[in-house]
Amino acid sequence: MTNFEKLSDNLSRIAPSATTVVTQKARDLKAAGEDVISLSVGESDFDTPEHIIRAAIEALKQGKTRYTTIDGTPELKAAICRKFKRENSLNYSPAQINVSPGGKAVIYNALSASLNVGDEVIIPAPCWVSYPEIVKLCGAKPVTITCDMQSGFKLTPEQLSAAITPRTRWLILNSPSNPTGAAYSQAELRALADVLIHHPRVMILTDDIYEHLVYDDFAFTTLAEVSPELYDRTLTMNGVSKTYAMTGWRIGYAGGPEWLISAMAKIMGQSTGNPASFSQYGAIAALDGPQDFIQSRNIDFRKRRDFVVKNLNAAGLVCKIPVGAFYVFASCASVIGKRSAGGALIKTDLDFCEHLLSESLVALVPGIAFHSPSFFRLSYATSLAQLEQACTRIAAFCNGCH
Ligand code: PLP
Repeated sequence: MTNFEKLSDNLSRIAPSATTVVTQKARDLKAAGEDVISLSVGESDFDTPEHIIRAAIEALKQGKTRYTTIDGTPELKAAICRKFKRENSLNYSPAQINVSPGGKAVIYNALSASLNVGDEVIIPAPCWVSYPEIVKLCGAKPVTITCDMQSGFKLTPEQLSAAITPRTRWLILNSPSNPTGAAYSQAELRALADVLIHHPRVMILTDDIYEHLVYDDFAFTTLAEVSPELYDRTLTMNGVSKTYAMTGWRIGYAGGPEWLISAMAKIMGQSTGNPASFSQYGAIAALDGPQDFIQSRNIDFRKRRDFVVKNLNAAGLVCKIPVGAFYVFASCASVIGKRSAGGALIKTDLDFCEHLLSESLVALVPGIAFHSPSFFRLSYATSLAQLEQACTRIAAFCNGCH
């Protein structure tokens, strides 16, 4: 390393993604012409609806190509206020709304605006890969709490109560969850709220980005709605990426207390600046426009989910039926300790994913990436035909393990 190749000390605090090994290998195999089925993606395979695309094109044509208000245009903030009122019975004023370049940026801005060295953030695990790393980037300490399959991968009030210390600054709740697809019922949120009420220093970030991807008549609800006592210290985060198949547009948003929202805008003002102007117009069309396509897409997601759950269980990869998102989180404990047909010893979930990829050409994400070894995440945001082929390959791989 030469003198000028000196990186920030900040970087040494965060882990390289545990998914990189498998993702890179999948890329290499694809580049070499192999027929890899990738079930590792975190985005819908459906297209952004036409009316949203038209709204963004119209905005571009009308010259909406300049800087906007840093944390979102007044028009988009008004549409978000309407959304929160209509769908979550939450009253937020525009001054309580942040719009950032993606849901991830909302979380980063909120945590970096409020965390100090020594603060702790409680994160139920399995958890989305970025939460602990963002907390570490902010100089604070992630406290991951393992939620097992028996409890539906959900945090219990007892676990929450035991995890809170005088240093706890935030609890992050993600429902429906990436990677498990688990979602909290109203009663479960109420029980967590009953614990939080006794700890007035703790803020709560609810990541509701998969709100609309729920099946089997599951009734989605969010903490600030269930527990008005916590409204003042809850940041209700959401975004258009998943529901409207808009991952590339980079629009995430949140409603929360004004002191936090204005601090987040201050950070954006000196870092990213505003989210893309025309994406914001697309987001208005998404939130204010027709919502019926979500239901018809969910019918497809549900069929795929049921197919995958049935086939994974038949292959000895135990999983329950998740109520939301587009992921199945399954155990690969039944093959750990065995050898694959190709002769590789499978010691961990990472080995399972690596050898499944190299021998059977299916890419999954190892559970370790989500702080849950012995599991893996399968994304069913792809066609049923692809899923059928993938499940056949996975079953053959598992049958070949001895
Ligand atoms: N939160 C969760 C739970 C996610 O799964 C993701 C994306 O994968 C995000 C937030 C970030 O979404 P965005 O693409 O809008 O940054």
